[in-house]
Amino acid sequence: MWIDISISMSEAMPIYPGDPRFSAKPVKISEINSRVNLTEISLGTHTGTHIDAPKHVFSEKKTVTDLDLNVFIGPCYVLEISEFSKDVLKKLPKKAKRILLKANSDLPGKETWLEGYKGVPPKFAELLLNHLDEKPLLIGIDALSIEEKGHKVLETHGLFLSQEIIILEGINLSHINEGNYQLAALPLKLESLDGSPVRAALKRI
Ligand SMILES: [Zn+2]
Repeated sequence: MWIDISISMSEAMPIYPGDPRFSAKPVKISEINSRVNLTEISLGTHTGTHIDAPKHVFSEKKTVTDLDLNVFIGPCYVLEISEFSKDVLKKLPKKAKRILLKANSDLPGKETWLEGYKGVPPKFAELLLNHLDEKPLLIGIDALSIEEKGHKVLETHGLFLSQEIIILEGINLSHINEGNYQLAALPLKLESLDGSPVRAALKRI
């Protein structure tokens, strides 16, 4: 059974400071089409549950439509992070290709998500990559940014995206236990853009 790990898109959704707000307005095309429902939506490429393409930080690097779809579908390991230490990595299989970090327990469902979240310290990001046998395809986190709160330089983003390790942000893992899953989190086909909202889901394996 697939389990949703996305957050709901609505005008009340949490938005990373400075990002465009989400809006949804009903549209009436013409009298002939007045009986259909149609909505104009407005949002950022990094609104809600979304992926960061390398172009997010590096203008000349890969965009959403340059990325291989196989990155977003396949085996994944959910790792619970009590603290960002080398010890916590002992549980992570060295062959993991997609890793979701549960660092914020039940915070994603709460209004205080943005105020109190934990991002990935650059030192830990390096330890994580060194722990693995091979470069992973994707790293996700249950925060709206993988960067530590208040960290002005996008160091952790830079470390991952420079190596074309795709970042998945804004997931809710509060109802997910540590372990092995299948992940599906496909981006929209947004030609040459820097990121995309996704519907992310996990299936236990
Ligand atoms: Zn992003």
